[in-house]
Amino acid sequence: MADQYIGRFAPSPTGPLHMGSLVSALGSWADARHHGGRWLVRIEDIDPERESPEAITQILASLEAHHLFADEDITFQRNNSDHYDAALAQLRQQQKLYACTCTRKSLRALNQSYYPGICRDRQHPEADRALRVVVDDQALCFTDLLRGTLKENVTTTVGDFIVRRRGPFYAYQLAVVVDDARQNITHVVRGSDLLDNTARQIVLQQRLHYSTPAYLHLPLALGDDGSKLSKQTGALPLDNTLALQNLQAAWRLLGQQNPATLPTCCGGFLDHCRRSWNREFIPCPPNSA
Ligand code: GLU
Ligand code: ZN
Repeated sequence: MADQYIGRFAPSPTGPLHMGSLVSALGSWADARHHGGRWLVRIEDIDPERESPEAITQILASLEAHHLFADEDITFQRNNSDHYDAALAQLRQQQKLYACTCTRKSLRALNQSYYPGICRDRQHPEADRALRVVVDDQALCFTDLLRGTLKENVTTTVGDFIVRRRGPFYAYQLAVVVDDARQNITHVVRGSDLLDNTARQIVLQQRLHYSTPAYLHLPLALGDDGSKLSKQTGALPLDNTLALQNLQAAWRLLGQQNPATLPTCCGGFLDHCRRSWNREFIPCPPNSA
């Protein structure tokens, strides 16, 4: 069925899962399951400098311990270079791709929050350079299922952005868009820290003639000091022996209601999650990520 809901959880293996990642995993799982959809897991391992095979093992063990099982074999972005290259070729053919020789330092000296297209017409050779995609100067509207309509002109927020880094490494924006399209993802449910990537991803979808999925950005689990919990800020890895308690905590952070009698196993609790998931309960700070 072409229109069936297909969701996904797409962690980068920079470390083990923490409560913030569990909120995204559970939220995307519950939204998919509640709508009778499928749920996929994709490991976004395209940045060898920040990632480790050990983290992949830990993430997969954690998902399993929490009974969050994907409907298809788990996919790995490191296997998808051919598809990313094909997308780059498409952009190149449209003359919407160019090599950029600007250094971080030279860009910093410009003191501008967006890349002002310096290398756009310079025809630098591509080898060993970052590649940017040309962004049109126009406002783009998209819908977040919690926040409603959002508007962004990517020219003034980021400008022509990098789709392949020097190295060469594929950029997150490119890989995520290519894989969401290849896997026919209809709903992207993920953390609010990724909200400000969405407009860029839609720019790429339009360039590559892909359809745009529905987006829902979940609240972030905050640390005791109110800062964002992330692997970088040292959020504690999930203790897999406390899987049921972890799921309950993530469920609460998603604003959802507990069952009258608490199930004694993850499977039972997830059954409740599937049935009772309600987007309207998700806490959503107005206009913030
Ligand atoms: N791999 C990204 C991350 O772990 C998430 C990608 C996405 O959900 O779009 O931050
Ligand atoms: Zn440049």
